[in-house]
Amino acid sequence: MEILDGKKISNQIKEEIAAEVAQMKERGEKVPHLAAVIVGNDGASLTYVGSKVRSCERVGFESTMVRLPNTTSEQELLKKIHELNVDPNIDGFIVQLPLPPQIDTQRVLMAVDPDKDVDGFHPMNFGKMALDMSTFIPATPFGILELLDRYQVETQGKHTVVIGRSHIVGRPMSILMGRKSFPGNSTVTLTHSRTKNISQITTQADIIISALGVPGFLKAEMVKDDVVIIDVGITRVPDESRERGYYITGDVDFENVSKKASYITPVPGGVGPMTIAMLLKNTLLARERHRNR
Ligand code: NAP
Repeated sequence: MEILDGKKISNQIKEEIAAEVAQMKERGEKVPHLAAVIVGNDGASLTYVGSKVRSCERVGFESTMVRLPNTTSEQELLKKIHELNVDPNIDGFIVQLPLPPQIDTQRVLMAVDPDKDVDGFHPMNFGKMALDMSTFIPATPFGILELLDRYQVETQGKHTVVIGRSHIVGRPMSILMGRKSFPGNSTVTLTHSRTKNISQITTQADIIISALGVPGFLKAEMVKDDVVIIDVGITRVPDESRERGYYITGDVDFENVSKKASYITPVPGGVGPMTIAMLLKNTLLARERHRNR
């Protein structure tokens, strides 16, 4: 069994990006600038956005954090998005989800300029991804592809089972694993909460990508020997004995499933750090596109 070490690979990617940024600086060029918009005070969201902004600083990007109160109206947020769309200093930006209930998330994601949509959530970018066109691939699926690529995990002709059909992980992942390239060329089954006899399907899988958010969901008896496991789940489990008051766990019973797996991602330290690295990569791509326009 080999660990797919997202922490190590993400650090390599950040070093590669930092080297490119250093060259941009030497040439006197503008460096990439990422903005992150956060509405409200959700603890997990603030943690995620904080680490995205710190990662920007680490690779030499400029970054801007836009914090808006929980009471922000949809119109006010759309106005802020328009400002970011037209600001020539900003190469890409993200709107951290979830948004408060008074705001229509789809309307907000549609308002982001597709050329600055480094999360890849705009329908135009999602459509391009589905058609194998050059675009911003959502950071978490992009990170999974990169992990499979850097460890040269064979995907061609394999049966990949994706658990979860969210727009940000499961659905794009199912499209990407079925595309005609590497990583890809898999035969994909997309499963969800209405899937019957899910164990029957997972026991036939060569690769399982689990993105449902249910701790310990995938058990050893649900997988076959030599399976490749990508655990996307991140759940905070309350635990008074820890200083932070919780611990982080994935969807997979790591202790037992890892004994049968050929490759497996840990949680934490697997897909999570890759997500941030690929957001930076998308921002670098956005800068290059704007420079070449
Ligand atoms: P989501 O929008 O809540 O979607 C969860 C999906 O799982 C849904 O499609 C749901 O089915 C399915 N599901 C729920 N219970 C199930 C069950 N018992 N059996 C089969 N399918 C079931 O979740 P998400 O945003 O994709 O996130 C999933 C997990 O990944 C969460 O833990 C999240 O924190 C984590 N995540 C991690 C990263 C990272 O960087 N590592 C990034 C994003 C998300 P229905 O469609 O039928 O409801």
